[in-house]
Order: sequence, then structure tokens, then C-alpha cells
Amino acid sequence: MSTIPNPGDQRPLVGKVAIVTGASRGIGQAIAVRLAQMGAGIAAVATSAERCADTVAQCRAVGVPAEAFGVDVAESAAVDELVKRIAAQMGGVDILINNAGITRDGLLLRMSEEDFDRVVDVNLKGTFNFVKSAARLLMKVRGRIVNISSVVGITGNAGQVNYAASKAGVIGLTRSVAKELAGRGVTVNAIAPGYIETDMTAAIDPAAAAKLSEAIPLGRIGRADEIAAAVAFLVGPGGDYLTGQTIVVDGGLSL
Ligand code: NAP
Repeated sequence: MSTIPNPGDQRPLVGKVAIVTGASRGIGQAIAVRLAQMGAGIAAVATSAERCADTVAQCRAVGVPAEAFGVDVAESAAVDELVKRIAAQMGGVDILINNAGITRDGLLLRMSEEDFDRVVDVNLKGTFNFVKSAARLLMKVRGRIVNISSVVGITGNAGQVNYAASKAGVIGLTRSVAKELAGRGVTVNAIAPGYIETDMTAAIDPAAAAKLSEAIPLGRIGRADEIAAAVAFLVGPGGDYLTGQTIVVDGGLSL
């Protein structure tokens, strides 16, 4: 007889440990707190541990262990060291959420090599670094990986050649790692958010923001917790049989 998971279980991640990168604010903070509410211990990662103090406090407030860590996700050796430290300190790694990301927008003809390289290094290589460093740990526990891409990685966007390329790369990486790790029971999926209200989008001028909102079929900008809800689905019992997929959470923007 097969067992049907009980959807009434609100804390299906008790006893598991989740690494969330870019957890100091915005979407990453919402993801960390949501996974904590589901019972997971949280390793909150940003450019410095101090920047994650608020996230850690919010996670501890729901009764789970939570620790803050600082690293530049683009630095392979430092990431490798950090993943080992997190596993030793928190008792393993079951879930990896690659969310840290930056933009350095500009039209192609004016984009510097440095701005191209840095965005790809943080968004794409940063994801690779954590996936590679945590893969063995995740293989031991049939773990879960969720990579935060972007809808512009699918549609493209004028002024974001570097960012769109990095986010398209995250989708290709997700599909490839999903194939490599499926045999070990690890699922690997991506989420492609649309226009979400965070520090990252705060710089967009109000007139352009209003125009963007009008272009969204659901008629409004998204919230960070709406991306966290999709992550919660993928790492919870509902996500058992999904791998290599990209879930677009954009209010219909890309339709
Ligand atoms: P945000 O508010 O700007 O936060 C970015 C996070 O990434 C911060 O925690 C930041 O840490 C961390 N970070 C940046 N560079 C890092 C590095 N080199 N090493 C370690 N951590 C680093 O961004 P957000 O809007 O929440 O976006 C989160 C993710 O969603 C990003 O991957 C972004 O591309 C993606 N996304 C966002 C939107 C949107 O509309 N907001 C849409 C599609 C996709 P510090 O606080 O220490 O700087």
C-alpha cells in the first residue's frame, strides 16, 4: 500500500538543513523565513554574516536553528570551505537554494567587459560553485536544489545582456545537473521570477515601473513571499517528482 503524504503537515522540513544564498534581504530572506516556518534549520548566506542578522532572528523566532555566514559566491575556494563549515556546524545539508544575484544593466554597446564578467560570475558561477560544493552532501540524503533564475533568462531584455545570459545559463545548468543527479534522488529545479518588489527593482524609475505593472496580466508587481511559496512547493513533499523544470512566477508577464 502506498502512503499518501499528509498535506496538513505544516512542518515537513523538521530535521533538515537548508542553505539559502542571498538571504540578507528581498527574495532570499523571504525564502529563508518560509523554509524555517516549514521546520528547516537555516544557513543564511550573504556577502557578510552581519547582513543576515535580521533573517537569522526571524528564523530563530519560529523555533529552528539558524546561522549567518558571509562569502562572495563567485569565489570557488571560499564557497567550498563555507559549505564544509556549514555541514559540520549544522549537521549536514539537505536543501540548497541558489538565490544570490546582482544586476549591472546597460545597453550592449556601452556594457563593459567587467560588468559582463561580474554578473556572470555572481549569478551563474556562484550557482555552479554552491551546486558543486554541496553535491556530495545532497547525494547522501536525496536532497533538493532550487536555483533562482529570471523570466528575462527566457525572454531576453534590452539593457540586460549580461543578466539575461547569466539567468539563461542558470536554466541550462539546472537541467544538466538534474540529469546528472537524478540517479541519486536529488531534484534540481529553477524558478524564474518576473518583476518582484525588492531592493533590486527599487532603482527602476516610477514611470517605467508603472508601465511594467500595466504589462503584467495579473495587474501588479509580485512580492518576495510569492517566490518563497514556489520554493516551498519544490522542496516540500509536493515536489518529489519534479526535476529539471523552470517554474515561471511572473503574474503572466511573459505570456
Ligand atoms: P536583492 O534584494 O538585491 O538581494 C540580493 C541578495 O544577493 C542579497 O542578499 C545580497 O547580499 C546577495 N548577494 C549579491 N551578491 C552577492 C555575492 N557576490 N555573494 C554573496 N551574496 C551576494 O535581490 P532580490 O530582488 O531579492 O533577488 C534575489 C534573486 O532573485 C536574484 O538572483 C535575482 O536575480 C532574482 N530575481 C529577482 C527579480 C526581482 O524582480 N526582484 C526578478 C527575477 C529574478 P548582501 O545584502 O550582502 O549584498
